[in-house]
Amino acid sequence: MRGEPFSCGARRAIVASAARRRVPSGHDAERAAVLKLRALLLLASLLVACGERAADTPPAAARLAFDGARAFADLEALVRIGPRPAGSEGAARARELIRERLRQAGWPVEDHAFTAQPLGSAPVPMVNLIARHAGASAERLILITHYDTKLIPGVEFVGANDGASGTAVLLELARVFAAEPLPLTTELVFADGEEAFGPNITEHDGLYGSTALAERMQADGSLAQVRSVILVDMVGDRDLNLVSDLGSSPLLRGIFARAAASVGHGAIVDERALMAVVDDHTPFQRRGVEHVLALIDFQFGARVSPGPLWHTARDDLSAVSAASLNAVGMALVEAVRAIEEHWRIADGTGAQGD
Ligand SMILES: [Zn+2]
Repeated sequence: MRGEPFSCGARRAIVASAARRRVPSGHDAERAAVLKLRALLLLASLLVACGERAADTPPAAARLAFDGARAFADLEALVRIGPRPAGSEGAARARELIRERLRQAGWPVEDHAFTAQPLGSAPVPMVNLIARHAGASAERLILITHYDTKLIPGVEFVGANDGASGTAVLLELARVFAAEPLPLTTELVFADGEEAFGPNITEHDGLYGSTALAERMQADGSLAQVRSVILVDMVGDRDLNLVSDLGSSPLLRGIFARAAASVGHGAIVDERALMAVVDDHTPFQRRGVEHVLALIDFQFGARVSPGPLWHTARDDLSAVSAASLNAVGMALVEAVRAIEEHWRIADGTGAQGD
């Protein structure tokens, strides 16, 4: 990705408001537990009396939890392949792994093959993988990441964070949502060629896969069905702090912040890390998709942008953690549900009243 730090002049000193919580005494705690049990019993009896669940809530059995350890196992498997730059044998092996995991989860996968033409070099064959979960509506939600790693001469660059972390999170989302009825048709896009062949992503270098897909969708008319695009990239940093992307939709930023807080991980969004993120969501945004959300930690290894580990040999297993994947994954699961519900109501589409 390319990030432009937001220069806002005076840097605000953020004082973390120490939330004061009263620690209950033993007696208080016991009474609270009894009250909670009574409330639960009352709720259970009401549910039995009603004899039905709320119309909008899928049955609990269909709602699975995000498993950061399982996601981390996929991250490790990708890293074991070694470097995975576009057009390489490593990239082909990464695709095999992604296809196999999606097959196990039960998602159909489409290969979107195209040829990129980087300036001043030979054409490079590339392949996006698109997994699709049919929803009640044809309106779409896209979650996009990249599986390629940057080709850095002289460096065995394995991209544990930059390439593998987003891929691993999307693969785990595939498992979580496999059996869950979703209002929108939901696509997981594993983009090729996010990385530039030159030093940095520019107007003409990098974002090859997402650009090719957005162009194809514009040409066939399906882009008009896209309600939201969520970017997931570099989310494995042990010290996870997601940027506050100035180009992301306030609606989606708000939903994600609330979702993260609801699962106890509100602190992963860093309100001081203001950026204008250019990444795989950008080609969709430039073609008119208003509601995009960039989830990326662009302070890799220290709280400066882009961080000392970015695009270095030290982007390896020692720099990432299952806990970070778990935090962002848990928040994403709730955010996806909330975003889909938002569009179901706003569009008047979906499985209302079932
Ligand atoms: Zn990169």
